[in-house]
Formats: sequence, structure tokens, C-alpha cells
Amino acid sequence: MPGFEIFGDEERREVQDVLDTGVLFRYGFDQARKGHYKAALFEQELSRKIGSAHCHLCCSGTAALSIALAACGIGAGDEVIVPPFTFIATVEAILHAGAIPVFAEIDETLCLAPEEIENVLTPGTRAVLPVHMCGSMARIDEIKTLCDQKGLILIEDACQAVGATFGNKGLGTFGKAGCFSFDPVKTITCGEGGGVVTDDPEVYARADQYADHGHDHIGNDRGLEGHPILGLNYRISELNAAVGVAQLRKLDRILDIQRRNKRAIKEGMAALSDISFRKIPDQAGDSATFLSFFLPSEEKARKAAAELAKAGVDGCFYWYGNNWHYLKQWGHLHRMNGAAKMPVELMSVLPDFSRIQLPKSDRIMGKTISMQIKLSWTEDMIEKRIEKINQVLKG
Ligand SMILES: *Cc1c(COP(=O)(O)O)cnc(C)c1O
Repeated sequence: MPGFEIFGDEERREVQDVLDTGVLFRYGFDQARKGHYKAALFEQELSRKIGSAHCHLCCSGTAALSIALAACGIGAGDEVIVPPFTFIATVEAILHAGAIPVFAEIDETLCLAPEEIENVLTPGTRAVLPVHMCGSMARIDEIKTLCDQKGLILIEDACQAVGATFGNKGLGTFGKAGCFSFDPVKTITCGEGGGVVTDDPEVYARADQYADHGHDHIGNDRGLEGHPILGLNYRISELNAAVGVAQLRKLDRILDIQRRNKRAIKEGMAALSDISFRKIPDQAGDSATFLSFFLPSEEKARKAAAELAKAGVDGCFYWYGNNWHYLKQWGHLHRMNGAAKMPVELMSVLPDFSRIQLPKSDRIMGKTISMQIKLSWTEDMIEKRIEKINQVLKG
């Protein structure tokens, strides 16, 4: 997740373009902006790169998820199937849409398992929202087939997987909509930003409207635009979009370096007989932001994570004990009595999230460590890292 590691003149030039015009708003001001439409440019270039017909750039990945749900018509009382291993944003977006997150088990891809989706289907199921965690992919072809068979809407949370593919097709393009994040720690960053991609012109139009108070953006007079739907403000500024334009043009280079560095570390761990690696449905499509591996047990994984940190092998995440990424740790979801109370109608139909049992996911997450792959590593640093990893993990 290292776009911030390679900021340079490219980002500075794009931002300077915007500052020179004084137009930080993405719509209108056609005279003053001297031809600079950074958000629109980013949308065009991301669509081309990912292989989608449309893209709407917005202010965060969380916003992208909310926009995608709204644009796909998912709301009050609809059940949406999600994995318990994700960033909390996926679940927040569903709840704030008035919909109900329904958790299904993950498998050793660290993503939603297609056969587990069937176990939690009900007549209220409207959508499936798999999350492509840590730069790699769910078994998205099987999930897509299942959604088509059951008439369910597929929305992908590809926030952590920009540029990753399955069978040469961009993650995010398999369902009705796909969501990306360009927050400060993602593969490429806008500072803050997110994107919704879709092939469906209607979903795109609703996304573009929903993210800007429902305005239809037709005609030149902002005051006289139509507003076919109710919306909110999830707009991105031209300054953020400008950073994103420069970052997006570095994506291929970022992926190349990540893949090379990940391969070196993985090869360097080949002799560790206790270690096995995350299943990756299409190796060639892995964006390689992380190397995720399994220890034989939770106890050994906890110990290894602590020892790796102590030995100075930084960037190793033990998600099972981390407050951000696993259902078990989301105390606020267990209580739901924070400042932003859910509507009473929704509260009454929500399950008690603290009681949900997902033994397969617990077992997998309990033994998982993910190591962040950096762009700035030199060959020497990689060699030393491999040495330390072997010292810690062979014992
Ligand atoms: C980062 C992330 C988000 C949210 O993105 P923001 O831009 O930080 O709002 C959503 N889902 C996943 C899986 C993420 O990693």
C-alpha cells in the first residue's frame, strides 16, 4: 500500500495546475479552469486501466461503497452478504444505507467463500459484497456465477486491490459496481479519495447524482440543474483528484516493484516448513501489496507476530488481534449505542453481532500474518529481511 512512498514532481505539477486556475470544484467554471478537469481525467484513465465503461471519483472508499449501494438501489431492510475480514467501512456503508450486513465465512483466500454464501441466503438477500483483501482476490468467478444464478446484485469492495485482476479482468468489474479507495495508505492515493466503477450507464448516472446532492449535471447553469434523486455530498476536490492523476500513472510501476519484492521474500521463506501461504485464485493477477502466510496454530501465529516485530521486521499485521479489520474486535458494532444511532426499525431487525459464530474464519484469521510489501526496499534490505524472518520463524 505504498503510493505515498513515491510522491514526486508529477504530483506537484498536477496540483500546481489546479492552484494556478483557482478552481478546486470538479464541476463547472469552464472558462476559469483553463481545460483542467482532474477528477474527470482520473475517471477516464481509471476506467481504461480497470476495464470498466464508467467511473465516478468521490471523496473516500467508504463514500464509494455508500454510493454504489445507493446507485444499485440497496437500502432499507435489504440483506447484504459480507465477509467478517474487511475494513469496518464495508459494514458501515451497509448499515448507513439502512441495510443489514449478513456475515458469511471466508476461506484460505482470506476472502468470502462462495460455498458459504449459500448457507446464509434468505428471501431477504439482495446483494453480495465480497472484499478483495490485501491486494489479492476472492474466488470472484464462482461468486459471480452464484449471484447470477440466484438473481443477487454483486458489488465488489476492491478498495485494497486496485490493478489486481482475475483471468486478466480487473477486480471491481465483475459485478454491477466495484469500489476503490485512494486513501493515504492505499496502493495509489489521492490523499483521500474513492471510486465507483460500473458498466451500467444507469448505475453510473445515479452514482454521479447521489454523490452531489442528486444533481444531474446536465446543462451549464448549476442553479437550474435537475435533481432526480435525493443525495449527499461525497464529492472529491480537484486538488485530491490531481494527486490521484499522477499516482494512477505510476500504478504499473508500483505493481511491478511490489510483485518483484514479494516474489523475493516468498522465495526466501521457501525452506520454512511450518509456513504455508494464502491461496491466490490467480497468481498472475495478484497486486502483491501484501505477503500473507499461515502458521500452524493461533498460538504460534501470535508468538511469531510479536517476535517479528521485536526483530525489526516491520509491517507485519496480525489482523485477528487488530481492532480495525475483524468482526470479533468491532466493539462498536456489538453495542451500536454510539452517537450515530441506527433507525429504530433497523435496530429491531439487526442480529446481535457479538454472538455471531464464524469458526472457520476464526481459525483461518487466528493463524494468519500479512506482511506489507514496500516499494522503497533495496536488495540489501530484502536480503536482511529474509535473514531475520528465517531466524524468527524456523524456531
Ligand atoms: C480502505 C478501505 C475502505 C475504505 O476506504 P477509505 O477511503 O479509507 O474510506 C473500505 N474497504 C476496505 C477493504 C478498505 O481497505
